[in-house]
Amino acid sequence: MTLFSELGLDAPLLKALEAEGYTSPTPIQEQSIPHLLQGKDMLGLAQTGTGKTASFALPILQRLDQIKQRAMPKSARVLVLTPTRELAVQVGQSFKTYGCHYRLRHALVFGGVGMVPQIKTMAGGVDVLVATPGRLLDLMNQGAIRLDSVEVLVLDEADRMLDMGFILPIRKIVAAIPKSRQTVLFSATMPDSIVGLANSVLHQPVRVEVTPVSSTVDKIDQKVMFVDRENKRTLLTEMFACKTVERALIFTRTKHGANRVAEMLEKSGIPSDAIHGNKSQGARQKALADFKDGRIRALVATDIAARGIDVDGITHVINFELPNEPESYVHRIGRTARAGASGIALSLCDADEVSYLRSIEKTIRQAVPVDYEHAYHAPHIASRGAGGKPKPQGRPQAHSQAHPQAGRPQQGRGNNPHGEHANGGKPAHGSGRPAQPGRGPAKAGGKPGFKGMPGGGQRAARG
Ligand code: AMP
Repeated sequence: MTLFSELGLDAPLLKALEAEGYTSPTPIQEQSIPHLLQGKDMLGLAQTGTGKTASFALPILQRLDQIKQRAMPKSARVLVLTPTRELAVQVGQSFKTYGCHYRLRHALVFGGVGMVPQIKTMAGGVDVLVATPGRLLDLMNQGAIRLDSVEVLVLDEADRMLDMGFILPIRKIVAAIPKSRQTVLFSATMPDSIVGLANSVLHQPVRVEVTPVSSTVDKIDQKVMFVDRENKRTLLTEMFACKTVERALIFTRTKHGANRVAEMLEKSGIPSDAIHGNKSQGARQKALADFKDGRIRALVATDIAARGIDVDGITHVINFELPNEPESYVHRIGRTARAGASGIALSLCDADEVSYLRSIEKTIRQAVPVDYEHAYHAPHIASRGAGGKPKPQGRPQAHSQAHPQAGRPQQGRGNNPHGEHANGGKPAHGSGRPAQPGRGPAKAGGKPGFKGMPGGGQRAARG
């Protein structure tokens, strides 16, 4: 496992990363950081959720600190362009978080809010300006912002910016920045328009690319189980009646939740432990070693703690609670499909988590197939979570099937979860890439369902 320190990052950044609970760089970070620290231009093919923000923010912060220079009035040393104000806020926050041990000035400029505070913030000049193209151009035209001393330009989610019609503002903005700058362009997709933009703004760029989220997700056999909160614990415990649940990584949102679930499983005779930030290093290492060596069957973790878990052969990822950040879902379930292997991801969704499920489905651009068969199925939640679709009719008897859901109608919700589009009728990120079809019973056969689930028969997802 590579460490952040091996990528050449300075102590103030390492300290900030440690405080965030990041133990190791993500693939895009590992690939990008060394190049960007050298001041090279870069073309990055990566989606949200891959850690792309830190992959450019960290080296940029370090270079800002190394090349000590004061920002010129009304200007910025670093300009990051983003398609939306939400992303601008997120990126701005990341720069603040990672740069908390540096003395740097930041500003956000986006539309939909008053200009005066933005003009005031920019008056003295800032180190890092994160902006959306339209408002930035407005303020440039008013003489409130000038870009003739920008040292680094980042175009984040460039494909989405072009889809939103920002090509002209972008061209005008780029033309106002000195050619001697460092330029980074991130895009989730590479349509011709992006190739054209990249060719015109980048100078001998290195190209880095990480596997799109969707292809990781595609290898994983996912199911959502709608269940009332009070039944979650019993449902979870009973999953372990199936022997194929050999090594399960279980996620909770909180550290206390992780402890409670691990204790509950232990009491039910399922060897388990919890791993989270409140545990000593020694206790964490022991839990991990026990998990790797098969002394425990279940490891219950929070998202942050799980980032450092490097264990092969995880048969199941179980989301005891759904994450409120959709990207975390992708990180979580990716734990069971390492090194090209496939895996199983089961998500328990109660009434309060339906909105999380919807965000997840938008992010992964596919519907998570519903398990209607488990004994604690909550139809009142399913009717909301499954876009109001009724339970499929005419399903075969569970016990007569090698696979409990073989031969049933597709349970995904079609190509487009809930019939929603992330971007006004375009796929999310406006990528032009078709949404992934909601998948039905993939990988049927071969794996028995849960015996001994309440209600009997082969139930729940493939165990
Ligand atoms: P991004 O793709 O930049 O939107 O990042 C996705 C999420 O991953 C954000 O919540 C980051 O805070 C988190 N993140 C980024 N890098 C790491 C890392 N190396 N370890 C753990 N979490 C990370």
